Amino acid sequence: MTLLCVPILTHDAEAALRDAVLAKAAGADLVEFRIDEMFSGSGDEAEEKAVLRLVAESPLPCIVTCRPTWEGGQYDGDDAARVALLERLGTAFGPGEHPPRFIDIELATFERSANLRQKVKLAVDHPEQVRDLKTSLILSAHDFSGRPADLSRRILKMRAEPAAAVHKIAYRARSLRDNLELFDLLAGRDRPTIALGMGEFGLLSRVLAPKFGGFLTFASLRDSTVTAPGQPRISELVDLYRFRSIGPATRVYGVVGWPVGHSLSPHVHNAGFTALGIDAVYLPLPIAAAEGDADAPFESLKATLGELVDHRRLDLCGCSVTIPHKEGVLRLARESGWEIDPLATAIGAANTLTLERGPDGSPSLARVMNTDAAAARDALAAAVGELAGKRVAVIGAGGAARAVAAGLLGAGASVVVASRRRARADAMAAALSTNLDAGQRLVTAELAGLPSLGCEAVVNCTPAGMAGGPAPDESPVPEGHLKGECRVVMDTVYSPLETPLLRVARAAGCTVVDGLGMFVRQAEAQFLIWTGERPPVGLFERVARRELATRGLEGKPR
Ligand code: NAP
Repeated sequence: MTLLCVPILTHDAEAALRDAVLAKAAGADLVEFRIDEMFSGSGDEAEEKAVLRLVAESPLPCIVTCRPTWEGGQYDGDDAARVALLERLGTAFGPGEHPPRFIDIELATFERSANLRQKVKLAVDHPEQVRDLKTSLILSAHDFSGRPADLSRRILKMRAEPAAAVHKIAYRARSLRDNLELFDLLAGRDRPTIALGMGEFGLLSRVLAPKFGGFLTFASLRDSTVTAPGQPRISELVDLYRFRSIGPATRVYGVVGWPVGHSLSPHVHNAGFTALGIDAVYLPLPIAAAEGDADAPFESLKATLGELVDHRRLDLCGCSVTIPHKEGVLRLARESGWEIDPLATAIGAANTLTLERGPDGSPSLARVMNTDAAAARDALAAAVGELAGKRVAVIGAGGAARAVAAGLLGAGASVVVASRRRARADAMAAALSTNLDAGQRLVTAELAGLPSLGCEAVVNCTPAGMAGGPAPDESPVPEGHLKGECRVVMDTVYSPLETPLLRVARAAGCTVVDGLGMFVRQAEAQFLIWTGERPPVGLFERVARRELATRGLEGKPR
């Protein structure tokens, strides 16, 4: 079992013990007392006493670490003083005393001096230890800038040290691919090993540690107590990422995009896995839209997703694909010989990859699809009723507009595409007309002409109104343009649920449909594709609304 450890870094012993109690209540197995703010190495006896008390009164087994500044910590005293403290802790058998379960010391300190090495060894249990000691040594190496160039050398050095009961390697992951090397490192371990990627790209290694037999993973109690970049909160790890149910056979899913840190998808899919008892986990899979020429985002998608798909032990069985990779994944599918759903070809974008794997873990089938089109169609139909023969205005001419228009045309509706750049709308309509044989049911118009187009419904497919987007306070449809026959207004933006467009539409007496209906339906369709099972009715919507509410983005209910 991979242990869950909460690091506690404070100068205040009382606060540290309070946090240790909270960590236990939150489900941690272990705490790490980072004493580098509490211990100065100045010879002050009160400091030593405070640390001894911390260990003795800890409600959980603990690691004691006094991390020096040159390895990312706060301690800037001398090495001899902190090693003397560790030696004291390892032999803390006096009345009211208790030795820690582990002490952590850097490989660099170990290599620096035979004397320090010798002193640390006096404090821990190891094959040549003559005393009956209860403390084990974690030998660690960190790199906050990236994968260390001498990673193999560091690992060999650690392996050559019999006193090290646990090895720890942590470095900043610069892309998702760095996690794969950490997983390979765990597979080749010769004793308990912690292998973690720091930063946004390293979350995979922290959550999937149990899948690869990692000794422990760190999670913070709250955002303000994070001790390494990218460290998740314990509640996130346990409740959102299903940490306690992850094992070697757990299938992996995720959302590929940039940025994806605030995606609702992990919330809904993981809730679905939990509800149906499916051994799977869903994670954000950030793939940066690399800067450079027009091909740069595609090249980074190809390099990263290609490796994730090919990694046999990762068990990546599917992913959602979002901005800016929806078109790129279709191109990747063509270049890689994956199957492509004809609708995705017609739209020119895919939002779903599904993978089947053979007994050796290699992919036996890969297929890309588009679940956005049917999701938009069904979300609108729930408000409009039968779509065949109805006339609908689609605002915008990007990827979402193409998928929405394709869904509506497939249901027999007529579509008018109106975008702020008429030329882009014309190009989109020309491509879709050819692909979908839409004929006269697909035309374009100026935005200003909207009131006289005779449309019964309007669907916004631009980011206008989206929190954090290019125009969060804007409605893509000018006030007064919703008069006439328009009865229903749908927004594809769901963050917030109540967009400026929907406020105007409500005031004009229209029925409004927020963007969550489309989001939930496209996610439910993906879940069915991947698992063969439908998530419980209403679960995805409830989870997504609750999450938006916690972010203050719920707006008015429909
Ligand atoms: P995209 O490819 O970048 O296209 C955006 C379109 O909106 C372009 O036609 C653009 O016009 C237009 N536009 C941008 N800002 C505008 C503004 N302030 N006023 C008027 N028009 C504007 O983006 P996309 O992939 O289509 O995504 C658009 C939105 O759809 C996203 O923001 C997302 O919220 C939503 N979406 C929702 C779901 C769902 O499940 N609910 C799924 C997918 C997408 P120009 O060409 O002139 O720049």
